Parts: sequence; C-alpha cells; structure tokens
Amino acid sequence: MKHRRLLILAHGGAGTRTITAAQRSCLGDALAAGYERLRRGASSVDAVEEAIRILESSGLFNAGVGSRLQLDGARRMDASIMMGNQLRAGAVAAIEQVRHPISAARLVMEQTGHVLLVGDPATQVARYFKLERQPPPTYTQRTASRAAIRGRRSTQKMLSLYENMRREPLRVEPRETVGAVALDGDGSVTAGASTGGIPLMLPGRVGDTPLIGCGVYADNEAGAVCMTGVGEGIIRIAVAKEIVGRLATGTSPAAAAQWVLRKLARRIRGAAGALVLTPDSRFAIRHTTPHMCGGYWNGCGKPVVADRFK
Ligand code: ASP
Repeated sequence: MKHRRLLILAHGGAGTRTITAAQRSCLGDALAAGYERLRRGASSVDAVEEAIRILESSGLFNAGVGSRLQLDGARRMDASIMMGNQLRAGAVAAIEQVRHPISAARLVMEQTGHVLLVGDPATQVARYFKLERQPPPTYTQRTASRAAIRGRRSTQKMLSLYENMRREPLRVEPRETVGAVALDGDGSVTAGASTGGIPLMLPGRVGDTPLIGCGVYADNEAGAVCMTGVGEGIIRIAVAKEIVGRLATGTSPAAAAQWVLRKLARRIRGAAGALVLTPDSRFAIRHTTPHMCGGYWNGCGKPVVADRFK
C-alpha cells in the first residue's frame, strides 16, 4: 500500500552555534516555498532548488551570497543535486561569481552529460546559460574575513600561513552550509546542498558537498540524504551513500543516520548532521554536533524549525 505525503526538509548547517531569529524565519520561508512547489504538483527537484535558492540569497548562511572566502580571498562555492528516480546528478565545485550554485549544479545535470564541473570552466558554463551573477568579494568583505586579509601570496607562504592558522582556535562562525531533501507526489526524492566551505581553507579546497555519495545521495529505492559538517571527514566515510545503503536494507531513517554518524565519530572523530527522507515519508534529522539548524514541513500547521534534533 502506498503511504506517501509531500514533504520537505531543509538545514542551515551543523555546528556549535544556535539559530538566530533571522535564520529561523528564513528556514521557515525556504520550507514554505519548497512545499508550495510540491503542493502545486512540481517535482522534488524544483522544491529542493527553490528552498536552497532562498537560503543562498539570504546572506544568513554559508552558501551563495553568504559564502566564506578561501585563504587567497576568493569565494569558491560547491553545490550538488541528485534525483532519486533515475539517479541523475549534477554538481559544481569551486565555482565563482554565481548567485545560485545550486542552479548551476542543476544545469550540469540537465544540460550536460557530466556530473561534476569545477573551477573557472564551471563559472563560464553558468555564464553561458545566463545564471544570475554575484559580484566578486569586495575589499571590505576580504578584509572582514580572517582568511582573506592575507591576500594573494606564494604557495609556500600560503601553506605556512595555513599551518599557523590551523593551530589557532577556530572562531565560531555565525553562518553554515545549507541543504534540502524533498518527496513529491510521484514518490520521487531529491537531495541538494550548497556551501561556501569551512572556516579555514587553502585555495582550491573542495569539501563533501559537491561529491555524490558523500554530501548528498538520492535513490527512490531507498531514500535521500543531505549532509553537513566538516567535509574532510564526511568524504572519507562516504556518509550519504552509506546512510542510503542502510535505508535500502530496511533500517529506519533515524537508526541509519545514527549508525553512520557514530561510525564517523568512532573511526575518524568526525561530527556532522544529516537530513534523511524515505519515499514513504519517513524522515529524520540527526546530528552529532551540539546543534543543527534545520526543519521540515508536510503541509500541516506551520514549518517546524529548530537548532537541536534528538
Ligand atoms: N560540508 C561542508 C564542507 O565541508 C561544510 C558544512 O557543511 O558546514 O565544505
């Protein structure tokens, strides 16, 4: 028997910080807009893209216009999207001057035969298809960033700077990565994510977000997963695919997420957060970080948004 309801989950990152009122309201808006798409009969791909575009535009999260800068002062962003019906996927890494990297990822999926485009060629493709642009970081933005104040340097100086900064205590950033998963009326799930990376990044660093199977995965035969947390750990466990693999064996979303997040902690002392959704509308939001900003909506009452899910 089919047991299915339209559903969307979104997050604004996992870490140590609590949610602000503005972030809470923006996540609520993103969930409402994504759900409205589903209600009008759009696909889960449309709903996920719509929700993430709102989060990318807000400047309240580490994605799109709010993205962090890398150590040379450049804003290089990563994003991906995956559809569970045909296992189609698209992603961009180290893309610059694009307002909506999630739309660039969708463009790769729909307009090219590839899964991942990187760097300047990815930016050029986004320009060719006339995606909305984002101006490069201003002098003020670069000087406000603890990374970019150092400006362009030789690789040797950059590496020693990076090593020194790695030893400093990390500042708690008020902004984190974004992502969403959704289930549409055809029973198809989609996962998407968009990020400006982590607080301290060498130029060219790419995290889990654009890597299919690491930051996102979606399969209508099991479910959709979107990850957040330090990508270096998530990549090494291929967390999203590992959670979907557990869903495929009948494990519940909460148990699948918990098992893999515990493995991440046990094997490599990683901490992360996950959105998990199955094609029969079961879902979980789980994190091993102190907080995770996120929420869900199934059309009843108001979108639920919180910064802790246990
Ligand atoms: N996973 C992202 C990255 O490593 C960061 C995050 O989720 O906050 O780039």
